[in-house]
Amino acid sequence: MEKHTSIWQKTKISTQNYPQLDKEIKTEIAIVGGGITGLTAATELLGTNKNICIIEAGKIGEGTTGHSTGNLYIPIQSLLSTIASKFNKETVKTIIDSRLYSLNYIERMIKEHEIDCNFLKRTLYIYTNDSKKVKKLQTELELFKQNGLDVSIAYELPIPVKFIFAIKIENQARFNPSTYIDKLAHNLTQHNCKIFEKSPVVNIKESYNACRIETESSVVIANQVLVTTHIPKGINKLQFVSFPYRSYAIAFNLKDKKYSNRVLPKLNIKVHSYKFQQ
Ligand SMILES: Cc1cc2nc3c(=O)[nH]c(=O)nc-3n(C[C@H](O)[C@H](O)[C@H](O)COP(=O)(O)OP(=O)(O)OC[C@H]3O[C@@H](n4cnc5c(N)ncnc54)[C@H](O)[C@@H]3O)c2cc1C
Repeated sequence: MEKHTSIWQKTKISTQNYPQLDKEIKTEIAIVGGGITGLTAATELLGTNKNICIIEAGKIGEGTTGHSTGNLYIPIQSLLSTIASKFNKETVKTIIDSRLYSLNYIERMIKEHEIDCNFLKRTLYIYTNDSKKVKKLQTELELFKQNGLDVSIAYELPIPVKFIFAIKIENQARFNPSTYIDKLAHNLTQHNCKIFEKSPVVNIKESYNACRIETESSVVIANQVLVTTHIPKGINKLQFVSFPYRSYAIAFNLKDKKYSNRVLPKLNIKVHSYKFQQ
């Protein structure tokens, strides 16, 4: 079978390499894992003026981040109505607010660091062609409205698919996460942050005033450690609820080349959408 490559990694602009950790170093803050979480944390920590070091097992941004769909949207796949019934409306608000904060944060970082990563505000459509699911989608619509989102019923979809009920949410976004991550990484190395790739952490030993982080080839001694490996290292209950899955996206050129706007070079996907599945 042909090897699949993430479209983000294939279309990203720069390919920066960082060294492998080959000698023992001391740092004030060590971050294990170089995905969007680790790099965002490091970027925020620059303000502390502490020495930071990021230790990545593979290459920066080539974990989940570089294999995601690259959409930035407020809805959640497990549905807000599920959260409302399992927890309460305050929890729904917290989720919406934090997702909105993240979307705006990424937009702000892109502007601040002039990152050309195809960030574009898009309308998100959620639709169903199953009459039994209409009520659920209406409940989602209400929850979005109650929390101030710009949401309404959609009477047509921008793609030719059958639907019986659809909603649209304005001001969602899409970007190339790999390019975004690359630029954050580059910016970090211009400050007091070192990045090491191909340096899988095999052990973290905590002592009273320092942590010993062992990689396959060397050691980092750090005052503070952040583990941003998506699924935590070692035995953790999160591992029992995680499962592997894959999203599929189809990218194609239109015969008449009449795209309404420029989105991604060669891709030109007009609108991102996802099917209402639950
Ligand atoms: C198929 C799919 C589609 C998705 N689509 C979207 C989307 O459209 N929008 C959205 O917002 N979210 C999406 N997500 C979720 C999103 O991608 C993740 O929440 C996010 O990328 C997680 O970032 P992270 O930095 O926490 O993890 P990662 O990007 O996985 O970074 C963790 C890093 O830690 C490194 N690491 C692991 N173990 C070690 C070790 N022992 N030592 C050193 N380094 C280590 C890994 O190599 C990796 O680079 C999607 C996820 C998947 C799986």
